[in-house]
Amino acid sequence: MPEGLNPTISVSRSMLAMTARWIDALRGQRGCFFTFHRAAPSMLWPDIPNRDFYIDLGFLDSLLTYLASSGRRVVTIEEGLRLASDPNGRDTFVNFSIDDCYRDTYEEVVPLFRRHGVPLTLFVTTGIPDGTIPLWWIGLEDTIRSRPFILASGERLATDTRERKIATYLMLQTRWDGPQAPQEYADFCRENDLDPEAIHWRHAITWDMLRELAGDPLVEIGSHTVSHPRVSVLEPEDARFELARSRERLQEMLNIPVKHFAFPYGRTKDCGPRDFAIARDAGYESVATTVKGLLRQGPVPYAYPRITLNGGHRNLFIPELHIAGASAIAARMLGRV
Ligand SMILES: [Zn+2]
Repeated sequence: MPEGLNPTISVSRSMLAMTARWIDALRGQRGCFFTFHRAAPSMLWPDIPNRDFYIDLGFLDSLLTYLASSGRRVVTIEEGLRLASDPNGRDTFVNFSIDDCYRDTYEEVVPLFRRHGVPLTLFVTTGIPDGTIPLWWIGLEDTIRSRPFILASGERLATDTRERKIATYLMLQTRWDGPQAPQEYADFCRENDLDPEAIHWRHAITWDMLRELAGDPLVEIGSHTVSHPRVSVLEPEDARFELARSRERLQEMLNIPVKHFAFPYGRTKDCGPRDFAIARDAGYESVATTVKGLLRQGPVPYAYPRITLNGGHRNLFIPELHIAGASAIAARMLGRV
């Protein structure tokens, strides 16, 4: 078991798996769609300033082993949607999708899924491999992680300890978040003598990497817009461009059909009925949100729920609670949905 994971998990893993199968059967649920962004080796994870954005690879490895032992199939979105709508199907399935897509998708995550022999879905923001969008959240983190101090709006901020790195990252991320972020980042790069182009290509997935992945039967590729906007706030023509152009770009660069789309941010306020209609017009067969929920047997909604796995998820009980629907029940009991 990788370092840092709860040692009690291995003792109770088989009991958890057996109970999980009973709960699945009793509740009639068919599928759970998980999503995450980046992944880091267990030994590096604690030192990452924006660690909630990263899954611990050791945890992900344990989760894939656990899912196999608990009889859950890991499937593509295409297969998951088909299984959920099959009235005679009995299998419970889980899908994993990565949103945005950075270099670690290619270097770390796909190789792990290949070792387990299970598929993975990539929702690509095409401005990342095209190099047309500023990865300000990545550049900010990269700089804070590697330097003992940084300059921000004329102020010298200490980033010499793990705690200071985390606190400084959160403070500046909150301050920049919004339409002003690209300008804030450009100013930050000048002030700290950074090369944003070099930072971009240290972290971005490239078209060459994506072409290789597109040829792998375990990798399913969908779209996640051109520039990662909050689609609900866009003018209709801008929303149409983001959804249609990203699909066209993936198809022309990878020579594959692109049937599925995931909304950036993905909560109820970030995408709604107008945006789902635009997605249908753009040719997508399904759209993913990040509204919490599971797929049950029966007609599959066009906009389906997904559960975000963040860096704080480091033991197997948490995803099991999600798969079993307990987190959704708890949210309802607490009046949070
Ligand atoms: Zn995203």
